[in-house]
Amino acid sequence: MIIHDLTLPLNEEIPVYPGDPPFKINTISSLENSDEYNLSSISLCLHCGTHIDAPFHFRRNGKKVEDFSLEYLIGEAYIVNILNSSVINAEIMKRAVVNIETERLIIRTGFMHQSLNKSWDEGYPSLTEDASEWLINNKKLKILGIDSPDIDLFHNREFPVHKIFADNDILVIENLDLSKEEEGKGRIIISPLYVEGVEALPARVYFLKDIG
Ligand SMILES: [Zn+2]
Repeated sequence: MIIHDLTLPLNEEIPVYPGDPPFKINTISSLENSDEYNLSSISLCLHCGTHIDAPFHFRRNGKKVEDFSLEYLIGEAYIVNILNSSVINAEIMKRAVVNIETERLIIRTGFMHQSLNKSWDEGYPSLTEDASEWLINNKKLKILGIDSPDIDLFHNREFPVHKIFADNDILVIENLDLSKEEEGKGRIIISPLYVEGVEALPARVYFLKDIG
């Protein structure tokens, strides 16, 4: 078995959604300054880096991150290549996933993540409403992951795709690092921090592949 890490590292260089607070490490005490120990805190937006969005992000009575069981967050998954499409519509989605049966679909768009070029790129790949509706109507999804910072088009501030997934209790994972992945199935482990009462959380995400 090989274990891939699909998580982007968090550091102060990581670009964040325009307007969100930046990721920061605050030094409280440090050995370098002759303190007794190193002690730090971090501040971040819960949508920074690789993170999951729960339905509560867009729905007042939607499920929060802690409402999803470990059985939901850990299990079989499938990475599908949908390369070179900045807008993934129903036709493109159907062609790519029609023969794939999985509850945890991970879309690899090939997007060169912003953390590599240190600036926010609003041209990231996103889904259309009809692509997400096609998935809801044709697949039994629990989780949809993507290597893009946002499943909605940057210029559509009504967030229709987030709302469709929220209304169907589907967790969304954004900002996955799929740069070294190939199409195929494996097992995914999604491990967010255990924070109660919130709409999103950064998560460490692993992908396990059997070899041989
Ligand atoms: Zn988010």
